[in-house]
Amino acid sequence: MGEQLEALQRRILEQGRVLSGGVLRVDAFLNQRVDMRLMREVGSAFAERFEGAGAGVVLTVESSGIAPAGMTALAMGLPLVVCKKQASRITRDERLSTMVHSFTKDAEYELSVSREFIAEGERVLFIDDFLAMGEAALGVARLVGQAGAVLAGIGIVIEKSFQPGRKKLEALGVPISSLARIARMDPDECDNRKAITFM
Ligand code: 5GP
Repeated sequence: MGEQLEALQRRILEQGRVLSGGVLRVDAFLNQRVDMRLMREVGSAFAERFEGAGAGVVLTVESSGIAPAGMTALAMGLPLVVCKKQASRITRDERLSTMVHSFTKDAEYELSVSREFIAEGERVLFIDDFLAMGEAALGVARLVGQAGAVLAGIGIVIEKSFQPGRKKLEALGVPISSLARIARMDPDECDNRKAITFM
């Protein structure tokens, strides 16, 4: 669904850092220092791709998903809802929650969201920064299911297509769109133009 975003691919080649274990660091424009102009392009691209999805809300996971998902919500004129990775001690509201295994941290965390922010029957567009093993997205799909809402689409900024996430998510039967799809990464190669291959 949709072409890859050239400006994003360029930034990955210029500023991405390939680590061992299939991890790509993009702290320079997405995860720590956030290039909001690029995020605006990301938001517009998702808004175009999911125009017909009938979404009533954009959902993401804290913290790295917030910038791309926020710009998508803005471009689509929709509210943004952020799932939490740690239960806050100050919230006493009714929460939907599920356990998720993190690929980058190799640990389990509890993903949760207030029930009041996802309405029953609502169509939800999920946006996240990375797709690796697909566990975060599957966790979100479970939360959406608990709310009695409908997952209308999944938008991923950077998909690592050499990992099994995409395959697992395809089983959900919802449209998936990734703005950059990485077919191969070589941590031993210093020149990113040789180290990173897009699909
Ligand atoms: P998954 O659940 O698909 O395995 O991983 C998704 C989450 O893990 C993303 O939300 C992202 O925060 C993190 N993640 C997975 N792979 C990478 C990576 O290569 N680089 C970075 N920076 N984050 C990643």
